[in-house]
Amino acid sequence: MKSLLIVCDGMGDRLTDGKTPLEVAYTPNMDKLASVGINGIMDSIRAGIRPGSDTAHISLFGYDPYKVYTGRGPFAAAGVGLELKKGDLALRCNFATLDENGIIIDRRAGRDEYGLDELASSLDGLEIENFDIIFKRSGGHRAALVIRRSELLGPYELSSRIIEPDPHIAGVGIAKAEALDASPQSRYTADILNEFVKRAIEILREHRINKERIEAGKLPANAILPRGVGTKPEIESFEHKYGIRGASVSGMALIKGICRTIGLDVIEVENATGHVDSNIGGKADAAIKALEEYDFVFLHIKGTDEASHDGNFDGKKNMIERVDREVMGKILGEVDLGGVNVVLTSDHATPISIKQHTADPNPIVIAGDVRTDLVTKFNERDCARGDLGRIRGRDLMNILMDLSDKAKLFGA
Ligand code: ZN
Ligand code: ZN
Repeated sequence: MKSLLIVCDGMGDRLTDGKTPLEVAYTPNMDKLASVGINGIMDSIRAGIRPGSDTAHISLFGYDPYKVYTGRGPFAAAGVGLELKKGDLALRCNFATLDENGIIIDRRAGRDEYGLDELASSLDGLEIENFDIIFKRSGGHRAALVIRRSELLGPYELSSRIIEPDPHIAGVGIAKAEALDASPQSRYTADILNEFVKRAIEILREHRINKERIEAGKLPANAILPRGVGTKPEIESFEHKYGIRGASVSGMALIKGICRTIGLDVIEVENATGHVDSNIGGKADAAIKALEEYDFVFLHIKGTDEASHDGNFDGKKNMIERVDREVMGKILGEVDLGGVNVVLTSDHATPISIKQHTADPNPIVIAGDVRTDLVTKFNERDCARGDLGRIRGRDLMNILMDLSDKAKLFGA
């Protein structure tokens, strides 16, 4: 048996007028899967812990995020194809707009992407002290920053024990990076980051692209806000851990970065945007095709989380119905449940009423070579009555390996 894991980001929810979006949405294919599968609910990390999408996915792939997670930056860097070396420090960044007094007036530079690639390359390759700056744009107004000790040895290692420059709000200036401990490494790292932020403002302010942006009535992208600092994570590869090869299909740089970091092959799909308009049918096709070659395929769909953060109940319901039609319909039609265990779940709830991730457990179904139960509808409350019970995200891969008859015996 092979495994296909489908994660609809932030799909789980609480009640709005007595129902969740999954309960209101028309989802005949998801319900079919529930009818032929074993159902339950899942705490991605632990009961009561609100997961980020990064820590949730690390957990779903069977790793302990409390041990391997160093910060979001390294996955953002891996997501744009930057390979981290030991000792590197990675951060995710926003292009932002400062006014003439250095106050942040827009944390996302108006979400206008004009010329951002060129602006990013003007910062790539800078040198600060004995460190090289690697700077690459990712999606939208975002970018990844890697600080790497140059071949000529610098005096100190870099440290992630710092307060980051991004203040996370507009209407204030960029914060000064500060050491969180008394080590020379942390102090030194804070100095380098502060210098980077300062040099970036000098370069971006004068850049031709920003003059063009201002002339066209756009906000200039005249500052960089770094956050999510982390060092290269020490993670055992997926193939070594489970003895099988895996592939992933996702439109989101962060998720691609996590997959690359654990050694899942990343399959690119055209117009897989990570938004509600994403080409999810194309992603389903790619995942189904990948099952020919790989024992494990992971398919990630982001639009459900996006609608949730906007507090848009109908948008979320529509996205769930799109997933049912364009993804689950295809999978039920083309994937042989006699040869593939198909899992559908979410990485965390993002309730419409909260607009943020919460710790409510996710509905989960596994269909394939399983002992079925009496659940016939896929949603939070029906799945909770299923025979899978309440599981932890970190146990999911073990369960799949067991169902696929690929698990090792514990004991004799
Ligand atoms: Zn998520
Ligand atoms: Zn989210």
